Amino acid sequence: MARHIGSVCRLCRRENLKMFLKGDRCYSDKCAYDRRGYAPGEHGQRRRVKISDYGIQLREKQKVKRMYGLLEGQFRGLFKKAEQKRGVTGTNLLIFLERRLDNVVYRLGFANSRTEARQLVRHNHFTVNGKKMNIPSYLAKIGDVIEVREKSRKVRVILDAIDTVVRRGIPAWLEVEQGTFRGTVKAYPTREELTMPIQEQLIVELYSK
Ligand code: SF4
Repeated sequence: MARHIGSVCRLCRRENLKMFLKGDRCYSDKCAYDRRGYAPGEHGQRRRVKISDYGIQLREKQKVKRMYGLLEGQFRGLFKKAEQKRGVTGTNLLIFLERRLDNVVYRLGFANSRTEARQLVRHNHFTVNGKKMNIPSYLAKIGDVIEVREKSRKVRVILDAIDTVVRRGIPAWLEVEQGTFRGTVKAYPTREELTMPIQEQLIVELYSK
C-alpha cells in the first residue's frame, strides 16, 4: 500500500495545489494550504528560482501521483498500460487512475478521501458485482456495481462520508441510488469531466525521455 509518512498537508503546499487529501479537514479553516499557501520548509517562502523543463515535468508527475496516493512503481505501471492502449496516452492514464476502485469509492462518496477509501477497501467493506473485493487497484468497468457490504452499513466513517459528499458532488460518469449503499459505473470519465488542474502531457514527456 502506498504510504506517505509525515504530514500530507505538506504535499499540497509543496505542489501548490489544494489536493483534498484529508477529508473533512480540507473543507475547514484548519486547511494548511489555505493558511500557509507556500512551500513547506525553512526556505518555503523564498521566491522560486526558475525551474527547468525537466523540473516542471517532474513536479507534474509528483503532483498527480500524490493526488491519487500511488507509489512510483504503481504509477509507472499504469502509465505503461495507458501507453499500450489506443488513444491519447495522457488521457488514458487519467482514466485508469479514475477507474481504480479506491478512487471510485471516494468519488461515489463512500469515503472522505482516497486514503480512507483505500483502507476501507482493504478492510473488506465493499463488494463489486456482489462479490467481495479488497483490491484498491482493481480497475472498475462500465456496468460494475460497487456496494457497501451489509455488515459495514453502520461504519461511522462511511456514514459520515455519505452525509458530506454533497459538498463535492458525485461525477456524472457514476451513479448512486439514493438511500442505498450502491453505486454504478455508468461510463468512463471523459477528459472534460476531469476538472483537477492536471497537464498530463508533461507526464508523457517525462516518461518518454
Ligand atoms: Fe491539503 Fe486537505 Fe491538508 Fe488542506 S487540509 S492542505 S487540502 S490535505
